[in-house]
Amino acid sequence: MKVLLVEDSDADARLVREMLRETQRSNVDLVHAWKLGEALNLLRSESFDVVLLDLGLPDVMGLDALAPVQAAVPDIPIVVLSGHNDDTLALQAVQNGAQDYLMKGEGDGALLTRALRYAVERKRTEQHIHHLAHHDGLTNLPNRRLLMDRLEHSLAMMRRANRLLAVVFMDLDHFKPVNDTFGHSVGDQALLEVASRLRACVRESDTVARIGGDEFTVLLPDVSSVDDVQRFANKLMHAISPPMSIGGRQISVSASMGISLFPWDGDNAEVLLRCADAAMYQAKQQGSEAALFYSGSPHQPMPERLHVMQGLRRAVEQDEFVLHYQPRVDAGDWTVCGVETLVRWNHPELGLLYPSRFIPLAEEMGMIVPIGEWVLHHACRQVGEWNGTRPGAPLRLSVNLSSREFGHRRVQSTVERALGDTHFSPRWLELELTEGGLMRNELETSETLRGLHDMGIGIAIDDFGTGYSSLGRLRNFPIDALKIDRSFVRDITSSAGDAAIVAAIITMAHGMGLRVTAEGVEAHDQRTLLTTQGCDEMQGFLFGHPVAPEQLVSSLLETESSVVLN
Ligand code: C2E
Ligand code: MG
Ligand code: MG
Repeated sequence: MKVLLVEDSDADARLVREMLRETQRSNVDLVHAWKLGEALNLLRSESFDVVLLDLGLPDVMGLDALAPVQAAVPDIPIVVLSGHNDDTLALQAVQNGAQDYLMKGEGDGALLTRALRYAVERKRTEQHIHHLAHHDGLTNLPNRRLLMDRLEHSLAMMRRANRLLAVVFMDLDHFKPVNDTFGHSVGDQALLEVASRLRACVRESDTVARIGGDEFTVLLPDVSSVDDVQRFANKLMHAISPPMSIGGRQISVSASMGISLFPWDGDNAEVLLRCADAAMYQAKQQGSEAALFYSGSPHQPMPERLHVMQGLRRAVEQDEFVLHYQPRVDAGDWTVCGVETLVRWNHPELGLLYPSRFIPLAEEMGMIVPIGEWVLHHACRQVGEWNGTRPGAPLRLSVNLSSREFGHRRVQSTVERALGDTHFSPRWLELELTEGGLMRNELETSETLRGLHDMGIGIAIDDFGTGYSSLGRLRNFPIDALKIDRSFVRDITSSAGDAAIVAAIITMAHGMGLRVTAEGVEAHDQRTLLTTQGCDEMQGFLFGHPVAPEQLVSSLLETESSVVLN
């Protein structure tokens, strides 16, 4: 048994060592750490069977020592050592998840060894109970409780990253007759087979849960489009339908599925599961073996996704979009050197909608092309007006293009027309594309980009670092700038890894003659670090939120020098 003793007193540590030596057959390998920090490093690099933890350490107060150890090694039992007969503290430690406690100066080697062994056993039992409470006994899949935990957890991540998530609720068709005709053990075998087929369809990060007799749920975080979800549902159907042979019999099952989507159908786990369940019920009513997206019930309002899809066409015709502008700041002199335009939809019933709620749907419906055209025209006109009246260098305008717009043959003529109609100079326009968009169709994309670049338009890679492209591969494209994704900037001052990634991106980009913009700069210390690393431009709440044109004018552009910080 390998034990990590965390104890700052040499005398106490010696005592423990001698007590263990005293019991000849205890066979304990003892490693000693003097501080919590040291213990955490050891726990990360070596494996232990149990931690013997003193509650009077120099670098942490009493019970506070417990949580970091539990977080670092959730599977390892902890026995707390408590001095001066402080039963209350020791008891609290056990209530907070320690497996046992010992009073210093009490007992002998035999007692200590027994406590350590007992702690290991008790932890094992606790984990077993925890597993039983969170898994289905038959299939060993996560149960409803664990599903809900994971769903809440994924939702928090999807919210932060502006990503889509799908919940697929599945109920087997005509499963009861299988049980009734062939008996429960055949039914159980069939359920096991279904579980393993479902599991084979999903990625590591997806969750397959069994939440009722013949009900399964699949959780798909970070899906890229509604189309993808539809394809995935079809794949599940195909996986389930081949007959299975159980006890010499051929048994076929099928399933009805209901699908709900974040952010449109709901914002929390309960609602999303309920919507998926309701959609499954509709699928059943349409006959078996169907997968339906949630579309509301007669008693509930139409779900937002359908609302949005219905409204998109009208929105373009009726000018329901508005553009907000976010300043971009030069890291050399902290003046506003440009603006990025970000589209919003002023929905007559749903209020102001952000791009994550409608751009993915617009892309799938093919509506992104007219929307993009609208954005280009209005942004060029607006920024052209500002540049006509403002003293000093003209503002550069950044416009986002989605890969679907880009795949469209007309993109170059659309851009030409927008520039021509608004008399905006191509020199001051920069188009932002994501890495994924570029790589989708490399040859065609590089030709289109070449055409735009030859017109004098700048090309920037947006959200850089989140895709899979290497800087080397970007060499094939005529690119002028990189925008480092805000997920790297967010932790740059707390994560040495992220800081190193950003430093490397900046150095390599400069080596290739590219300008670098950091996105999502929110704090002064982020700005300072990015400046040291040689970042050329910055954008983020620290300098200004995206705002309506009137607001940008009054807050930034009309101040004399446009210096936002010094
Ligand atoms: P993006 O191009 O990466 O835009 C930056 C996003 O980060 C914006 O979100 C902006 O509000 C947000 N942001 C800016 N500074 C900060 C900061 O300091 N902290 C944090 N947490 N966030 C910050 P928004 O407006 O919701 O836009 C989201 C995405 O939608 C954009 O990402 C872009 O990919 C897309 N998008 C926006 N407008 C258009 C458009 O006209 N056409 C197309 N195709 N896509 C657009
Ligand atoms: Mg952008
Ligand atoms: Mg971005």
